[in-house]
Amino acid sequence: MMLKIKRVPTLVSNFQKDEADEIGARGAGCGRNCLRNCCLPGSKLPLYGFKNLSYGKSVAADETKESPIDFLESLVLGEWEDRQQKGLFRYDVTACETKVIPGEYGFVAQLNEGRHLKKRPTEFRVDKVLQPFDGSKFNFTKVGQEELLFQFEASEEDEVQLYPDAPIDPEKSPSVVAINVSPIEYGHVLLIPKVLECLPQRIDRDSFLLALHMAAEAANPYFRLGYNSLGAFATINHLHFQAYFLAVQFPIEKAPTQKITVTDAGVKISEMLNYPVRGLAFEGGNSLEDLANVVSDSCICLQENNIPYNVLISDSGKRIFLLPQCYAEKQALGEVSAELLDTQVNPAVWEISGHMVLKRKEDYEGATEANAWRLLAEVSLSEARFQEVTALIFEAISLSVEENENATDGSPEDLDVTPPQPMEEIDGLNTHSTMVPA
Ligand SMILES: [Zn+2]
Repeated sequence: MMLKIKRVPTLVSNFQKDEADEIGARGAGCGRNCLRNCCLPGSKLPLYGFKNLSYGKSVAADETKESPIDFLESLVLGEWEDRQQKGLFRYDVTACETKVIPGEYGFVAQLNEGRHLKKRPTEFRVDKVLQPFDGSKFNFTKVGQEELLFQFEASEEDEVQLYPDAPIDPEKSPSVVAINVSPIEYGHVLLIPKVLECLPQRIDRDSFLLALHMAAEAANPYFRLGYNSLGAFATINHLHFQAYFLAVQFPIEKAPTQKITVTDAGVKISEMLNYPVRGLAFEGGNSLEDLANVVSDSCICLQENNIPYNVLISDSGKRIFLLPQCYAEKQALGEVSAELLDTQVNPAVWEISGHMVLKRKEDYEGATEANAWRLLAEVSLSEARFQEVTALIFEAISLSVEENENATDGSPEDLDVTPPQPMEEIDGLNTHSTMVPA
């Protein structure tokens, strides 16, 4: 049986629209100024070379130094605002209402009525986490170059470098940062590893490390990256991460965790407690690469076992949440209540982290912590299934399950409880124009 759900896909590029074919020629190439052979020769795009921490340097050692300015942040936001002025976005996200829902966790609700309009529902196959790349479908080589912000690569020097006018070298297949034309927040961008290699949506070690580098470079805990697998509300089968700024702590970041184990490389793996979606948190490690490898190996295990999942890269790349989910499967099997389906909310990484993007005014106005919790509880695996999946992951990354079992009745000092922040502090963190209003 093939499980499918009908849904309205979100446009992430202006060239994803059916009517893109009608766009007239604009000079040479196919007329779209795209990234394929028709338009690519001679193209240039700023290149941001990040400092390569992998060369024998640990994250901890690097922390003693001053972080290398908010260089990446300025670049992302400067370029993003430039594209906003050029009218490349489908709607003005800064005009979307946002509020913090009263309660212990501070779920954030956004009313976004424009995101899913003017599109026909499409059938998404949700029962296969790994699907081959299909060049005939929309992919990021078809975006207009004006939607790209910069190339993002490891610097060949031991420092950050910016080349404003770098050629796009098809031989090197650069990783690029592009706008999401349907933003859900200020500075919402996409990181597309090795864009010209046309990788399907699946995590591999190098791509995940690249995403961690971006989080570390941004050096702002309010700039997070997220990943949705196929079957967990990714809409495009071309490898990409999303990222944006939101100056509040996400509910998932406030949830208490309990340590399960520490790997040989020093990566601590914890289980989330008292949060509606069951998941694992990863932190520490002797280097950024150690942390990246443990998480990406866990993701690869889920992919190979056909278990849909979402990933949130939090705290400047120092803390990562991995959440296997089953909402789309339940939806396809008709096991989700009509009440929840009517909201048309797609619980992808941002919703699971506690930033609820709501499509109907009544859901926004009536938003409560209990409602958010109820939706997210449907996304989560059951406790029994979650333990099974955790055991699969631990086997894949060569940790004994026994260790896991011993630690679950662990000592109280293993319980890391971060108390929710009071609202006043959240207001004080309001630094960008579209952040949660006071
Ligand atoms: Zn072209």
